[in-house]
Amino acid sequence: MQYTLTTCPYCGVGCQLYLKEREGKIVGIIPREGGVNEGKLCIKGWAAHEFIHDPQRLTKPLVRGKDGKFEEVSWEYALTYIADKLKEIKAKYGSDAIGVLASAKCTNEENYLMQKFARVVIGTNNVDHCARLCHASTVAGLAAAFGSGAMSNSIAELQDADAIFVIGSNTTEQHPLISRRILRAVRENGSKLILADPREIDLSGFATIHMRQKSGSDVALLNGMMNVILAEGLQDEEFIKGRTENFEAFRKVVERYTPEYVKEITSVPPEKIREAARLYAKADKAAILFSMGITQHTTGVDNVLSNANLAMLTGNVGKESTGVNPLRGQNNVQGACDVGALANFYPSYVRMDNEAAIKKLEEAWSVTLPKVAGLTVVEMIGESGKKVHAIYLMGENPMVSDPDINHVRESLKKLDLLVVQDIFMSETAELAHVVLPSVCYAEKDGTFTNTERRVQRIRKAVSPPGEARQDWEIITQLATRLGYPMKYASPKEIMDEITRLVPIYGGMQFDRLEGEGLQWPCPSKDHPGTKYLHKDKFSRGLGLFTPVEYLPPAEQVDKQYPLILTTGRVIFHFHTGTMTRRSPTLNKQLSENYVEVNPEDARMLGIVNGESVRVKSRRGEINIKTRLSAIVPEGTIFIPFHFAENAANVLTISALDPKAKIPEFKVCAARIDKLVP
Ligand code: SF4
Repeated sequence: MQYTLTTCPYCGVGCQLYLKEREGKIVGIIPREGGVNEGKLCIKGWAAHEFIHDPQRLTKPLVRGKDGKFEEVSWEYALTYIADKLKEIKAKYGSDAIGVLASAKCTNEENYLMQKFARVVIGTNNVDHCARLCHASTVAGLAAAFGSGAMSNSIAELQDADAIFVIGSNTTEQHPLISRRILRAVRENGSKLILADPREIDLSGFATIHMRQKSGSDVALLNGMMNVILAEGLQDEEFIKGRTENFEAFRKVVERYTPEYVKEITSVPPEKIREAARLYAKADKAAILFSMGITQHTTGVDNVLSNANLAMLTGNVGKESTGVNPLRGQNNVQGACDVGALANFYPSYVRMDNEAAIKKLEEAWSVTLPKVAGLTVVEMIGESGKKVHAIYLMGENPMVSDPDINHVRESLKKLDLLVVQDIFMSETAELAHVVLPSVCYAEKDGTFTNTERRVQRIRKAVSPPGEARQDWEIITQLATRLGYPMKYASPKEIMDEITRLVPIYGGMQFDRLEGEGLQWPCPSKDHPGTKYLHKDKFSRGLGLFTPVEYLPPAEQVDKQYPLILTTGRVIFHFHTGTMTRRSPTLNKQLSENYVEVNPEDARMLGIVNGESVRVKSRRGEINIKTRLSAIVPEGTIFIPFHFAENAANVLTISALDPKAKIPEFKVCAARIDKLVP
């Protein structure tokens, strides 16, 4: 038996584990002692080997023939076919007619190459990935408030926080090993847990206060808490004066959000808002954790800015066990953003107007780079067949992950060329003109960056199936065919280039990433990495208070669609289910989708537990079984988004946050109809 140390391919916690290999097959997993996961794994981590040798893995390149069916072809044929088509489209419509989608499931090295491919080889900033669908508002909001769009503190610090405020994160299901830290802080250290979530989630049982705000009312709730803090003089005057700016403009807006007024918007009783505000503000060290309950709204950036306001108001940032901590959903969504797989940022969050930094990249890559932001994921798909004629996509599955899937399908069908590079025939690959077989985490070397900015190694333990190729090799081979030879011998060489061009990764050469890895910023070879950000100074200098007014969600309930639909994840599955739904262990726990309905709503509708119903929105409809539960408040239903056959995203709305362009997955209007009268 051989043991290979690597990093879990699922959520952003980044647990380290050993793959057990015997005779060329991964036969099991054991957790690494210590590290971010302290020798533990959640059920997904324990089962993370079960999809690796699945017989449905893609093993040969496929090109769609004249009869519409896929034909197996050689790599030479597939790559030449793609290169010729891309050249033709570029010549006819220009570089911006091509879009590239990188992947939060792939390594930093692969994402870096993919954005370089878009910008240097194709000549477009139309490069994005599904961070746009989960934490684009975090990147925009925290960059505006603090100058850095990442988790400010470390996971281990949670244990010493006096108060932990969790808003919009079902941590137990989505980041189980972070939830474990929260529970230990509460049980062993007496930390107070403040929870804001419309649903009665597992953490509710451990919370001192649980505020069940109406979906989409977070700005009002946070303004209400800050109103109390100011009214009762609980703010940190010294921090506000010395470390921040724009406080007075912020104060003027917050003063209007009395708890009584906020109750009308959020339904949270005023006394609960007061108690929560006092508990958070009086704590010596208070940490905020949030996730997609905050970010996936048309007011996602406003929600993030409000969390930043709250932390600055009480001086709870820039010191240990405090901070504003976005919990990243996928294994490498942080890293994919860091290395520039975003339409509006070059690597290291270089803005499109930062001429000096872009010049450095132009010199390194020997090209002139585009200086305007490209199209984001949702925009690219929306423009398919119009401005966009080709999409080259690595490891993404918009046919399950994006809002309003019926529209996504119709749009992708209009493309002249859709190339999907993946390990399985995903729902999106089924629509492609060319499908390229690539490799999974156990078959490659590289790095993932977890939610606390920790860059960790992944290591090759087994060979890929059939003719599947490394993602980085496919990109370089395609680039070379398109006239820009990319010559790298290994992921290590790609990381060496990243360390030269991405200052926060400056000291992160492979030989320094053995063991527990390093947290960025790590600018030089002798730098130990950074446990928490903004110690004496924010990345932007002074922290910026932003006055934020409450705005309602894009779609309101009405007589025709009287229920609020909210979507999310469950512990047993990951993202679009491509990997976890091939795991017997995980399928045994949950193999089909469900809609959570409050028993009172069910009574009014005349439906029972386990009954098949039709859920409808203005975008589409799905048939799905009910699960009656008081977890959801009356008037709200919840559907996990992992299941392609009755996908929640058939129903969701593609309304976007105007700044971050993130869709409003968390609120839309829906109805339930009985299938059998
Ligand atoms: Fe850890 Fe997340 Fe993997 Fe579970 S899914 S083992 S919490 S990294």
